[in-house]
Amino acid sequence: MPNDATPKPLDALFLDIDDTLFSTSVFADKARRAALDAMIRAGLRVDREVLRRELDEVISEFSSNFGSHFDKVIHRLPVEASAGLNPAILVAAGVVAYHETKWRELKVYDDAYEVLRWLAGTKLIRGIISLGLTVKQAEKVIRLKIYEFLTPGAIYFTDQIGINKPNPKLYQRVLDDLGLIANRVMYVGDNPRNDIDPCNEVGIITVRNRRSGRHAQTDGNTKPTYEIRDFYELRRILQTDFGVTSTTDL
Ligand SMILES: [Mg+2]
Repeated sequence: MPNDATPKPLDALFLDIDDTLFSTSVFADKARRAALDAMIRAGLRVDREVLRRELDEVISEFSSNFGSHFDKVIHRLPVEASAGLNPAILVAAGVVAYHETKWRELKVYDDAYEVLRWLAGTKLIRGIISLGLTVKQAEKVIRLKIYEFLTPGAIYFTDQIGINKPNPKLYQRVLDDLGLIANRVMYVGDNPRNDIDPCNEVGIITVRNRRSGRHAQTDGNTKPTYEIRDFYELRRILQTDFGVTSTTDL
């Protein structure tokens, strides 16, 4: 890990959301389980594991952002499974349980929350560059209760900008927009191909969060400047290599 005696200049830090601030995979799994259990409680006659397999197939065939997974699942089952039941009610049971779990369980890692609060007391611009549908990602920022720690004008969603990861133009666009210089900006993400490679290409300082998620074991074409396993490590890097201090240090 780089560690020179003189602190390096840093003006801004941007974060990925999914599988960086919280475990998207674990959370989605819990919410889907809750939804399927609720559909069975509402009368759907099917083995829980069979139902789970159908849902997984629907998600992989129609993508996770497709809107009516549960309708598709019911259509795929033998007619006996929902005979005499109103399919709209079964779907509603699933949707409500999914959203209730989401409301209840969605939160950032404890160390991420603590370090974001610390970051809010620094002079750094604190932004988000996140892949996904605008409304869904914006909802996450609010539900995760991190908005108060961010710089309001530094929040970017790929769907809203119209440039998707891993296109390096996405990151260049954010730099241009805020008048930032690449080598004085840091990006923290979990996906080596979407987050690390394009930022390296643009010249941004990269931090790979290698904590969990689908990409923990994959490698990109380039190496990140730093690797972390939790946000305390990020704070240490900011303090040691960049001389960042926070009003919360006092
Ligand atoms: Mg991610």
